[in-house]
Amino acid sequence: MFCTKCGAYNNDDAKNCTVCQSGLVEDTDNNAEEISENSTELNSEISKNPPKTYFFASVISAVLGSIPFGATAMVLSEITDVNIESGNIELAERYSKKTKLFCLISLFVGIVKYISILFWLMFYMVK
Ligand SMILES: [Zn+2]
Repeated sequence: MFCTKCGAYNNDDAKNCTVCQSGLVEDTDNNAEEISENSTELNSEISKNPPKTYFFASVISAVLGSIPFGATAMVLSEITDVNIESGNIELAERYSKKTKLFCLISLFVGIVKYISILFWLMFYMVK
């Protein structure tokens, strides 16, 4: 590193300048502060915009809709959660979208199921 006061070259681990004896520690302190600032910025960015896990939606879709599709949505929701916790936001977002899709498929299958049961009951009662 170079001395900030006189510009003389010193070893990186030197604490004082060999020429003017001024402290050389200040510079590394600033670097450490910058690094911690950057990491907190990154963390706040992650917590600011985490993708939804749709866990409750997947449970509801498994109970009211189709069990196989709903169970798949629950597994995908769990994978989304694991990816959020490990900081893999890009992958988490992809799984979040898949979870939402399976929730919708499950609920759609559920609606079709209930409508067909309803029609069957109506047909049975008319007979
Ligand atoms: Zn110096």
